[in-house]
Amino acid sequence: MDRPLAEGLFTDHHCHGVMAHDLSRTEFEGLASESSAPPPEGATAFDSQLGFLIRSRCAPVLGLEPHASPEAYLERRRALGADEVNRRLLGGAGIGAFVVETGYRGGAITDPEQTAAFAGGRAAEVVRLERIAEEVFEFTRADDDFCAAFRLALEERQREAVGFKSIAAYRCGLEIAPEAPAEEDVRREVRAWRESGSGRLESETVIRFLLQEAVRFRKPIQFHVGYGDDDVDLHRCSPLLMTAWLRTLRGAGVDVTLLHCYPFHREAGFLAHVFPHVYADVGLAVNYTGARSGAVVEEFLELIPFHKALFSSDAFGLAELYWLGAHLFRRGYESAARRWTEGGDWSPEDARRVFRMIASENAARVYRLGG
Ligand SMILES: [Zn+2]
Repeated sequence: MDRPLAEGLFTDHHCHGVMAHDLSRTEFEGLASESSAPPPEGATAFDSQLGFLIRSRCAPVLGLEPHASPEAYLERRRALGADEVNRRLLGGAGIGAFVVETGYRGGAITDPEQTAAFAGGRAAEVVRLERIAEEVFEFTRADDDFCAAFRLALEERQREAVGFKSIAAYRCGLEIAPEAPAEEDVRREVRAWRESGSGRLESETVIRFLLQEAVRFRKPIQFHVGYGDDDVDLHRCSPLLMTAWLRTLRGAGVDVTLLHCYPFHREAGFLAHVFPHVYADVGLAVNYTGARSGAVVEEFLELIPFHKALFSSDAFGLAELYWLGAHLFRRGYESAARRWTEGGDWSPEDARRVFRMIASENAARVYRLGG
């Protein structure tokens, strides 16, 4: 076989930890779907692109024949034990560095160091702005102190982190106003938040304040974009809604990385094309589109400058999601680049160089990961 074009280790610039305990079937199927609802009686989350790819591609990593039944797969998983499963799948993914976001169900999954240790890789942390704000909100008595308390907490939490993450998409949508919020408006919104009786931050004004504070540190800010779980209003998640806000950030010395992006990966590619500080990936989408993921990878590479494309798995909970995320992206790239080189549009040297950029070099530059 010819030397691969998709050659080299990945830096996974956005992922979460894995479950360290043996999973029940219900837990496994829950983590293999973006829906919070179980499938109807008699149906299974395995009947999906992701489920089929777990059976065809992950089964051999666990020592089974391809297309093992869900029952055989889960039985084998239990027999090997969570530790061995995590080591095989994370260790075999071809990921050398993990940039782990710790703001979602942090207590339920492995931390960045534990996650990377399964693969003998390096770890870095990204902190979630809304999570920090909600912690501050919970522990601050006087709402008028919120801004100062958030600044202190952010200063502390950012020290060890290589970047920030925002889930504005889940809370107020991505239409973020370009103006800096007045502190009295933020205080008013925090009081209204308190009166609502909910611990959940949904105010666009407050989220805009968090972003403004994060910008001061000149570290990259990740945004959830597009497809996600059933908590997201997808029509408010097109990255094009961020255009005005992104424009104000030009020249601020802060990079913005758009995560997942599906089905708006072409729109994200456009933004990365025109704005020097915007980057994008198709993590999550690659896993959930399974046998069709090659098309997503190709569409992703249509407009985006290659120095703006990033790799992520967005794996959460299941080691399968790391392994498959890496495998499918590598496979999609290899197959597309192979055609383009054979057609004479690309040279094999360029194809290998671009893969290294997308797989790891762009992330190392954006997150200043060093050697
Ligand atoms: Zn994520």
